[in-house]
Amino acid sequence: MSGWQELKAERNRRSLVRLTRALPLLFPRAVLTRALARPFAPPTPRLAIESYWGAHPIRADRLARALAARSQAPDGWRWRLGDRRSGLPFTFRTPPAPFREHAHALGPGFCCVCSQPVYRFGWHIDLWGTGPNQNAVWHSACVVAWQFWNAPSSQIQLLRRLQSRRCAQSGGRLWRSAEVDHRVPLFRVWSEHRDTPWPLLLDFWGLPNLQVINRDIHAAKCATEARDRASRALSLLQTPNRAEARALQDD
Ligand SMILES: [Zn+2]
Repeated sequence: MSGWQELKAERNRRSLVRLTRALPLLFPRAVLTRALARPFAPPTPRLAIESYWGAHPIRADRLARALAARSQAPDGWRWRLGDRRSGLPFTFRTPPAPFREHAHALGPGFCCVCSQPVYRFGWHIDLWGTGPNQNAVWHSACVVAWQFWNAPSSQIQLLRRLQSRRCAQSGGRLWRSAEVDHRVPLFRVWSEHRDTPWPLLLDFWGLPNLQVINRDIHAAKCATEARDRASRALSLLQTPNRAEARALQDD
């Protein structure tokens, strides 16, 4: 073995010893199987779980939306935009998350994305009977789902594979320059679907509303959407709803 390979093998051996020592009797099997098969084993159970969800963003997206589906938005909550101080999102491109807003934060032990209890290692099931984890405000899965919802383009390779490398609009082969698109554009979610009850709203950021399409088709779709948006902003400017018109123009 070369020096580098020896170093790598030694580092991996130490990580496996650390992981095995720290591993509780009960641990999600799929996570452990993946951790042990890594060229660099994650050295702690928490890192093993984070690495598992990081490798499965679509599963994380589905789970985060399923967990959120067990919750309801707080009474009187509406999707609103605001500033950093209020904890409100400042653009409609950010997924609505009532429990991330300061007014509705549930505090440690509960996930700020889906509002369900967070258990040991950021897991979503209390496998250990230890109750909510008082040091956590995110599920490991919800961290990955949140990243995916905010930057779906970072998973374009995965999305391309899910579509068998076919353009979701034309059915033709996807070119290297293909792009990730929201089927229902987010400005329309904001202007036309704003009153969809949370957590159903989250589907607009998850896989159900995502597609990979070729760049020329995307450009044509964006041009049509931009025309719709401009005419909508114009009609809103002629009404008292100026704040909304500005939100559509600014983004
Ligand atoms: Zn969560």
